[in-house]
Amino acid sequence: MVRNRHGAIDMAVEDSESEAIGVAILGAGPAGLACGWAMEEAGDIGYCVFEKSSVHGGNARTVKAGEFLYDTGPHRFHARDENATRRIGELLGAELATVSAPARICWKGKFVDFPLRPFQILKGGGLWYTLRASFNFMMSRIFDHRSREVAHFADYAKRRFGKTIAETFLIPFSERLWGMKGSELSPDIAGRRLPGFSVLGLMKDLLFGAKSSDHLEGRFLYPRLGYGQISDRMADKLSKGNLLYGKRVIGFTANDERIVSVRINDGATEYEIKPEVVINTLPITQVVQMLEPTPPQEVLDAVGKLRFRDVVLVILFLDVPSVSDAAVTYFQNAEYEFSRAHEPRNRSSAMSPEGKTSLVVEFPCFQSEEIWMREDSSLIEGLVSSLHEMGLIDRSAVIGADVHRLPDAYPVYFNGYGEVSEVVLNYLAKFGNLWSLGRGGSYFYGHVHDFITEAADVIRAVESYRK
Ligand SMILES: Cc1cc2nc3c(=O)[nH]c(=O)nc-3n(C[C@H](O)[C@H](O)[C@H](O)COP(=O)(O)OP(=O)(O)OC[C@H]3O[C@@H](n4cnc5c(N)ncnc54)[C@H](O)[C@@H]3O)c2cc1C
Repeated sequence: MVRNRHGAIDMAVEDSESEAIGVAILGAGPAGLACGWAMEEAGDIGYCVFEKSSVHGGNARTVKAGEFLYDTGPHRFHARDENATRRIGELLGAELATVSAPARICWKGKFVDFPLRPFQILKGGGLWYTLRASFNFMMSRIFDHRSREVAHFADYAKRRFGKTIAETFLIPFSERLWGMKGSELSPDIAGRRLPGFSVLGLMKDLLFGAKSSDHLEGRFLYPRLGYGQISDRMADKLSKGNLLYGKRVIGFTANDERIVSVRINDGATEYEIKPEVVINTLPITQVVQMLEPTPPQEVLDAVGKLRFRDVVLVILFLDVPSVSDAAVTYFQNAEYEFSRAHEPRNRSSAMSPEGKTSLVVEFPCFQSEEIWMREDSSLIEGLVSSLHEMGLIDRSAVIGADVHRLPDAYPVYFNGYGEVSEVVLNYLAKFGNLWSLGRGGSYFYGHVHDFITEAADVIRAVESYRK
């Protein structure tokens, strides 16, 4: 194996011998790509990104299906970190637009604005339900700040929003999304899922009317050609030949202090690289299982408890100009296997041809469950029937469909996940030349802006380590 002019591996002349390289970045999702981009900006191009699939972007891709484009789930750029927002603005230029679109919820067959407002509760639930919800909400406000610690997510939801609202919406939705009981989930899941469902929002509604407060989706930044354009632009920043597709990481060898080598399978052969530094974005569960020598039992036990939630997406292409104006629609009814739908066109008109639209519907599951393995045709037929029956679409408007499976979409925040994941992360931290980041790499329910910031920090640390 020979290095190219960047100090990375020249795959054209690769053979099965080991070779020391600079920095090996594992995975070309947003976190891996952001690391490559930050390496380039640091002026260090002695790195290679190893990606198992034939495309980059991981779970934040935009897929082209004929004349349609769709994202792997309803993505939007969260402008929460000034620096990450500035970098994305520079990366995309005029391609980045501000989108304003509401969120709504399908409740008892009616579509109402989400977050719920007093008027929406009245519209969806009727007078008696509204009185009960208001009473419970006020009681939760009065008794909320007692000294008792929040025990779990269901407890949090009831204390913050009142028992009625919590049990109608938040608990069933979260249980379906995460595949666990509300009493088994950590309150931390709320931090990133319910930002707009606020007391302040409800008060604003009461005082100024329903349209005053922000929607859960509301205004957000979104690239013209889909969220995957962020990954594409980051990939464009990498030096030619530094992003290697079809390279599956299959093993790590470590000594007490560092990762000594990484084994790669490229479909035809297996070979070993000996990077000076490894930047990992693969799920930590995978990494531990691939490590030689085998980590201590305590670490294996912890890994056995960590889980990722997976998602099956079913995409319907429709011969109608629009289904709704919503950025996302949540499905509250427990009888549905799907939790959420979005209409790509409501984020950018470039996502579907003129006069046509599409719907991307999420079925959260574990890979061990039947839904993950279900035949595509059966998923599509079942969904079309459900949406037709609820009046969201007309069956005759469906002109095509696609199914896309997202592995390791969400690290499951079960009660106590923090201590368990820390056991694994602390163990990995003992390898001085290993950095791990990203959704799977740090068992963190983060978003692209988080990983852009994290990547810059990691590369700074790597650069000082290599000096
Ligand atoms: C439904 C949904 C909605 C979301 N909404 C938003 C949103 O609105 N805004 C936002 O910013 N983010 C959103 N996200 C999160 C965003 O998609 C993730 O944060 C992001 O994809 C995580 O990036 P990552 O690089 O850490 O991991 P991934 O995207 O999972 O990338 C990991 C990469 O590693 C590769 N890989 C895995 N195993 C191996 C191996 N053994 N060898 C080599 N390569 C390997 C994979 O193929 C993949 O390319 C959403 C995610 C989902 C699922």
